[in-house]
Amino acid sequence: MAILNASKRHQPNTGLKMTDLFAQANQANNISFGMGLPDETVFPSAALQKAFTQAIAQEGADIFQYHSTQGPASLRQKIAAMTKTYFGLTASAEQVILTQGGQQAIDMVGRAFLDKNDHIVVEGPTYMGALEAFDSYEPTYHEVPVNDDGMDIAHLKQILRQFPDIKFVYTVPDFQNPTGVTMSLAKRKALLALAEEYDFYIIEDSPYRYLRYTGDMVPSIASLDTSGKVILISSFSKILSPALRTGWLIANKQLIALFLDIKSALDVQPSQISLLAIDQFLAENNIDEHIRAVNAVYKDKCATMVHYLETYLPAHVQFTKPEGGFFLWLSLPEAQDAGKLLLGPVLQEANVVYVPSEIQYASRQIKNQLRLNFTYPSHEDIKDGIMRLAQVLKSI
Ligand code: PMP
Repeated sequence: MAILNASKRHQPNTGLKMTDLFAQANQANNISFGMGLPDETVFPSAALQKAFTQAIAQEGADIFQYHSTQGPASLRQKIAAMTKTYFGLTASAEQVILTQGGQQAIDMVGRAFLDKNDHIVVEGPTYMGALEAFDSYEPTYHEVPVNDDGMDIAHLKQILRQFPDIKFVYTVPDFQNPTGVTMSLAKRKALLALAEEYDFYIIEDSPYRYLRYTGDMVPSIASLDTSGKVILISSFSKILSPALRTGWLIANKQLIALFLDIKSALDVQPSQISLLAIDQFLAENNIDEHIRAVNAVYKDKCATMVHYLETYLPAHVQFTKPEGGFFLWLSLPEAQDAGKLLLGPVLQEANVVYVPSEIQYASRQIKNQLRLNFTYPSHEDIKDGIMRLAQVLKSI
């Protein structure tokens, strides 16, 4: 039913919704491969608790005050240092804006660049939260298929020839949400060359880059950029805790002024308490060691899921083998609808939750694929869940 006076773009979505999946994922007898949740055993809970206590003790009443829109310089410096280590990018603390998770940074990008019907490029499939954010700005989407080595650059070229006024290309180049694939170096360079030629921004959204289990790091797109075309977004959600709601955006200095105005309009400023606690955590703990420990846990879980998929899935189902991140991607025969299957036998007989492809494509057209998360479920649940899922998929 329509909501009184709601804007057209915010009329309730009548299709499959994330909230429905959350509800299913939380039911006791269901095994959830659905949401992209970290494993709670890897949260450094005691160290974070200590960091919050210390930050509040050190700062006194001032920590409860209003502060800057950009976030504390000491934390921005530490993020700049991490960006050097993990992204090979030399950025100054002035180029970093702290945001309410990477999600807010994505929304800020939409707000900064998009008027209604502006053209943007997204990967097909892509991170559904980015689609939700961009939808509010009513862009015209162009979708570029994702291959095993990242977005299909030949397809992107075709789009650009037809629609040269693209505002930006949004990409998740490292262990993509949802497919798990990583963009090759050659494609990163080709994308940058196209950004130069057609004058568009590249939104490099990379919260999973820290989580590599096999293979070698590929240079970040931002580190290859020589003309300020890349806006880099990342987050502490996958390596520390999503509840901190702390991400960031790194851009050239001219853009920072624009993004600060936007950030101020959205929520005035980030939470000083969270940010100073993270700053304290990073001062007292070795983040690289912590990330290595997280990688060890997830590497095993990824291997477990791949093993059981290889063992039990029928030959008519294909899947990606990611080198890192949170997800892998299954492709069913084309006539199948993963959403209908989920709400039918998968939930009812197998008691397994996944995210169907439909809501992960801007076009909403491709229905025969699905995303599985391997970081949240236990090894035992991965085994049981994949066996039960495979049983259903054998019968389709
Ligand atoms: N970008 C991508 C690709 C993601 O997968 C996520 C989380 N699922 C986010 C951004 C947002 O995460 P957060 O706001 O927690 O940093």
